[in-house]
Parts: sequence; C-alpha cells; structure tokens
Amino acid sequence: MNNGFIISAYVISSILFILSLGGLSNQETSRRGNIYGMIGMAIAIVATLMSDQVSNYVLILIPVIFGGAIGAYFAARVEMTAMPELVAILHSFVGLAATLVGFATYLDPAAHFVGVEKTIHDVEIYLGILIGAVTFTGSVVAYGKLNGSIGSKALILPARHFLNLGILIACIILGKFFIGAESVSSGMLPLILMTILALAFGVHMVMAIGGADMPVVISMLNSYSGWAAAATGFMLSNDLLIVVGALVGSSGAILSYIMCRAMNRKFLSVIMGGFGTTTGGSGGGSSEGEQTEVTPITAAETADLLTESNSLVIVPGYGMAVAHAQHLVSELTKKLRDKDIDVKFAIHPVAGRMPGHMNVLLAEAKVPYDIVLEMDEINDDLAETDVVMVIGANDIVNPSAIDEPDSPIAGMPVLEVWNAKSVIVMKRSMASGYAGVENPLFFKDNTQMLFGDAKESVETIVASL
Ligand code: NDP
Repeated sequence: MNNGFIISAYVISSILFILSLGGLSNQETSRRGNIYGMIGMAIAIVATLMSDQVSNYVLILIPVIFGGAIGAYFAARVEMTAMPELVAILHSFVGLAATLVGFATYLDPAAHFVGVEKTIHDVEIYLGILIGAVTFTGSVVAYGKLNGSIGSKALILPARHFLNLGILIACIILGKFFIGAESVSSGMLPLILMTILALAFGVHMVMAIGGADMPVVISMLNSYSGWAAAATGFMLSNDLLIVVGALVGSSGAILSYIMCRAMNRKFLSVIMGGFGTTTGGSGGGSSEGEQTEVTPITAAETADLLTESNSLVIVPGYGMAVAHAQHLVSELTKKLRDKDIDVKFAIHPVAGRMPGHMNVLLAEAKVPYDIVLEMDEINDDLAETDVVMVIGANDIVNPSAIDEPDSPIAGMPVLEVWNAKSVIVMKRSMASGYAGVENPLFFKDNTQMLFGDAKESVETIVASL
C-alpha cells in the first residue's frame, strides 16, 4: 500500500487521539472523546494491516481474533468495582509487549546497524525493555493490591532506598556492557540481567506503596505504559505508536502530578515509598480522652432528618461502588430536589479505586453534572450545610489527615464533612478504609452511623420518603 496513504491515516488517527484526550477531560464530552478514540484506533489498525511490513495476514488475524475475543469477554463481564484492576492488568500487557518486542528486535537477524545507528538502536531496545519490565511487574502487583489478593499495607524492606539505588547503578553498568557488546550473543547476558533487575524493581516499587498512595502509583503506571508503547514504536519504527505512546505517557504524567497535588505528596517520595508507610498513630477515635462510642441512626430516622433539612451534600466513596448504590442515590437525589432541598455531591480526587471513579458512577446513574462538585469547589461550603451524607467513603473524610501528623494519611487534603451541622455515615461496620487508618469522624458528636449495605440503606430511605 502507498506509504503516503499510511502516513495520512496515521496523522488522522493521531488527531483523533488528541481530540479523544481533550474530550475525556470533561464529563459532558467524555462519550464523544471515547468515540474519537475508537475511530482513531480502528483507522490505525486498518492502516497498519495495509502497510508493506505486514505480509502474513493469517499469522496476524489468529491472535487478533483470539485476543479480541478474550478482551471483549472480560470487558463485557467486568463489574464497575473491578474496573481499576482491569486497567492495571491492561497496563501490564503493554509492559510485557514492550519487553518481548525489545528481545525480538534485538534477535532480529534482518537488523544490521553499524556505528551511531547501532548505538541508538541498542539504547532504544535497552530502555524499551527496562520501562516495559518495570511496568509489567509493577502493574501485576498493583492489580493484586487493587483486587485484594495482596494486602494494601506497604512492604518496607530494610535499606530499601539503597536497594533501589543499587538496582539503578547495576542497570547503568549493564547498559554500558550491552551497548558496547560486539555481537548479539555477548549483549544477551547484560540484557537478561537488566530485565531480571527491572522486573524485581517493579515488584519492590509497588509493594512499598501504602494504600493511600496507590492512586499516584496507578496513574504513574499508566504513564509508564505509554512510554513503554512509545519505546516499542521506536524499536518497530512505527510513528503512530511513538505518538500514541507519548500522548499516554505525558497525559499519565500530568495525571500523576494532579494526584500528587490532590494528596499533598511529592511524586519522588511516593515512588520511593516514602509516604503511606509510617507506622505511627492509628488516627483512631479511641485515644485517651476521646469519645469511643458511636451514635447509630436508622434509615427511617435519616429520611426524617433529610426531609427537615434545607441543604444536603452527598460524599460518595468506594463503598457506593461496591454496593452498586449509584442508581438509588440518583433516585434519592431527585426526590429530595423535588422537595426543594438543595442537594450537591462532593467528589474527592482519589475517591474510589481509580481516577474519576465516582464521576463515572454518577454519570452512569444520570446525576446532573452541575450538582457534582470537586473537593476544592465545595469544601468551604460544608460549614453552611445542614446534612452531609457519606456513602461508603472513609479515607477521604478522615480528620486524622489534618489532626494527626503521624498518620499514614497526614497531609492529604480531605473533605471536611465534620464542619457540617450533621453528618450521616453509611457503612457496614467499623472497618477502616483502604489506607487501614481508623477514622475519628465516626466518633464526633455531630456524626451518626447508618450501618448496613449502602444500597439497602438508600433503598429504605427512598421508601421512607
Ligand atoms: P475507602 O476504601 O477509604 O472506604 C470505603 C468504605 O466503604 C469502607 O470503609 C467500607 O466500610 C465501606 N463499604 C464497603 N462496601 C460497602 C457497602 N456495600 N455498603 C456500605 N459501605 C461499604 O474509600 P474512599 O473512597 O473513602 O477512599 C479511597 C481510598 O482508596 C483512598 O485511600 C485512596 O487513596 C485509595 N485509592 C484510590 C484510588 C483512586 O485512583 N481513586 C486508587 C487506589 C487506591 P465497611 O467495610 O465497614 O462497610
């Protein structure tokens, strides 16, 4: 196929991907953003299949059909609550692909480079495999931490910073041997050793992250997967893959920055395992002199309280996703607004288990966008609010982030719901949130606990109204 045609198709795809990212930055345009992305990807695949490099269609179509069927099956079945771990495992595939493509490119007998070209080619392979291997194991561990098969607590090895530094120095030395290698056979050993170190580093890096800091790691792995794809693009001399990889890599880096700001963390400190790892205060309400009893409330009493109030702020968290309560919450919102009660939603940037998790759920349940506010937009108004209803949220409304300097979540901005006249917390037990920190909010004088599954509780409130 004409090379000009392929390049034009790649340019159109790149533009569509940029439009897609632009669309995804806003709830109202996110559907359109997804459609741009899908069209861009379809054009990219067709154009690639028509390029001169592709000769054996059978060899390509078999894995495409097989892999596509597996992907479609899992994507169709995945629960909203399992979406974060699905994204994590997909990132791991990008890392694995970059690693395998790196080895395949190095072993390719048709690749004959000399001089500077060979050095550049070797650097591309080395970096591609390095980033790919870290992304692969890091994402697999993140997958385990998100689905609960690996505990969310940080694993702190002694002298972990020295371990990281040692791996970095070893990778630089091995890189020197690899790039200076005369033949494929002599370059293979340093390449394999570096790959093993990178795989180990990926595991160590994510294992050392405490629960509360996982959002930064998720967005960082998202960024790494983009750079791994870009590195694959360099190795395969595919311009579109380079552009797409750079788009994902840089947007993921911006997201990591936003997440760090949202959590008041320094990016480097998080990936070095410096936060979310303290063993200090539990932040609990049971410390000396503090109230240790909680005040329970029933769903029917909650309905009365809501009816008597003028303003309500709903704070959704991971538990709302687990309970699949979003549609009932939307129904409740409608009923209360029909009674002229001012209802708003307060969204913490790291609520749930993936960036934008709550926004997606509320959009799915058709909650109007204009009453869904970000933490910074609503935090100051909470003091003027009659009732705050916390639905399955915990870490994001934990006052120890402000009051307890030793807490693993110290410094993380939280929704200051305790400033409202009355707070109702819906959850099933006194269990802590993802960060494993006890929450003094539950013991405050103006807090009442509505125990039970969030969906059932909201259902009863709606019925009582
Ligand atoms: P949390 O995990 O802190 O708390 C969720 C609460 O929901 C739990 O305390 C649980 O209590 C309750 N819950 C669970 N199931 C139900 C149910 N069926 N009905 C009612 N309640 C339920 O969630 P938050 O949203 O407050 O905070 C998010 C946490 O996840 C933060 O620590 C954040 O750093 C981390 N994180 C966020 C990511 C992101 O990108 N957004 C990614 C990875 C981690 P109980 O068991 O008693 O019901």
